[in-house]
Amino acid sequence: MSAIELVAGLEVHAQLSTRTKLFCPCATDGFGAPPNSRICPICTGQPGVLPALNRAAVRAAFRAALALGCKVEPVSIFARKNYFYPDLPKAYQISQYERPFSSGGRLDLELEAGGARPVRIRRIHLEEDAGKLLHAAGSRQLDHSLIDFNRAGIPLVEIVTEADLRSAEEAAAFVAALREMLQYAGVSRCDMEKGELRCDANVSVRPAGSSVLNARAEIKNLNSLRAIRDALNHEFSRQSRLLAEGGRVVQETRLWNAEAGRTESMRAKEEAHDYRYFPDPDLRPLEAPAELLARIQAELPEPPAARRVRFSRDYGLPPRDARLLTARKELADYFEAAARGRSSEAAKAAANLVATELLARLNAQDAPLSAARIAPAELGELAGMVCGGILSSKGAKAAFSALWDRGGRASDAVRELDLAQVSDEAQVAAWVRQALADNARAAADLAAGHERALGALVGAVMKLSAGKANPVVATRLIKESFKA
Ligand code: ADP
Ligand code: MG
Ligand code: ZN
Repeated sequence: MSAIELVAGLEVHAQLSTRTKLFCPCATDGFGAPPNSRICPICTGQPGVLPALNRAAVRAAFRAALALGCKVEPVSIFARKNYFYPDLPKAYQISQYERPFSSGGRLDLELEAGGARPVRIRRIHLEEDAGKLLHAAGSRQLDHSLIDFNRAGIPLVEIVTEADLRSAEEAAAFVAALREMLQYAGVSRCDMEKGELRCDANVSVRPAGSSVLNARAEIKNLNSLRAIRDALNHEFSRQSRLLAEGGRVVQETRLWNAEAGRTESMRAKEEAHDYRYFPDPDLRPLEAPAELLARIQAELPEPPAARRVRFSRDYGLPPRDARLLTARKELADYFEAAARGRSSEAAKAAANLVATELLARLNAQDAPLSAARIAPAELGELAGMVCGGILSSKGAKAAFSALWDRGGRASDAVRELDLAQVSDEAQVAAWVRQALADNARAAADLAAGHERALGALVGAVMKLSAGKANPVVATRLIKESFKA
């Protein structure tokens, strides 16, 4: 039998970073807050209220579309998606259906081997989130369900891809790339642990290389990269096995059961007509003025993938470092501020300090970059001192540590902690003479061509100088003293 390939398309929901909900003034910071502490008559669907569209959410949605190379419609329509479930107090969700605000973009997957593979974006629409049902209170299972409406009415974009993904790894990589892009563009924080980015995956299988689209399963609510990878791998095996056994994949909605490590049938897949979509009579058509779009387009940051390429080229960073430094826009900005106006050698030293010292401390304290007291220019100054031979890498670490704790100027920290290396030739030469006299045996070995003795002699200089001699200068002077 010929090989089977996976075919997947994703529907990704991203929470727009706004202060307030999509149609009411309730705050969006309800994650972890007391249940139902961020609600009002509008987001709980009480009679007689009218929605008022949040302009900041609309701008964030437009930013998402333009960052993904989508076309934004001058006019689009809000639609009611009707269904009855207790997490939806109005019994309809305000969404977009026939006329979404955006369509036809793409996001490239960067391939390990270099190059990229495009994933087409079919459409993006704007919609509100639903509430959350709780079936347990802490660890206690309940014999009834509780409902928290803090999420109800939170603004989301739903980003729908074409069925362009061919493996579980690719699907996870796509979501990671999308998250990075949305974070860069300031669309969404995409904190998956807080439910700010969730996705439904549509999965089918077919003979490799074929272009048919077979019946698919839609796996709901995957809320981590791990879940996406595991659920798709499992679903691929399940459908492949089904076919091999002569069975048939039925179109249905499935759920990922992470504990059991399998997808489970939830219901027959609903069709659009089940939702009785119709234009929402309470909301005017959504307009996207050309001037607004032009302004948003002009304000979009350099995309992460392009920035990686530029970092490798301009600063000579290896791909791994370029990737690390561009994973978050703030970090990339910080590094560039540190490297500004410095040699490419100093830029590399700065990259090194950011990638090791700075990230280690931020990770250890789980702190945002904004909490760092060491200013980027001061980190750049340290990097410059390392390249200029003023600081050893050990000295740079010590100075970094002080600046991390207290902030202030790099030059002050180096002076106060007496970290500067001695590179003065006359001073180092004096230590070298002393070291050679004290270590006649090693000196004789080196004279006889035993390079290994060099280390012992440099070590002796470092000891004599209480660690202050510049080892590069010391090494050179020792070698020179043996030249004819
Ligand atoms: P629905 O409206 O029922 O959710 P859509 O046709 O809008 O379905 O497609 C939703 C997602 O499913 C898209 O990402 C699309 O690429 C993907 N998709 C559609 N058909 C298939 C298929 N046969 N196999 C895998 N993915 C599919
Ligand atoms: Mg769908
Ligand atoms: Zn509200």
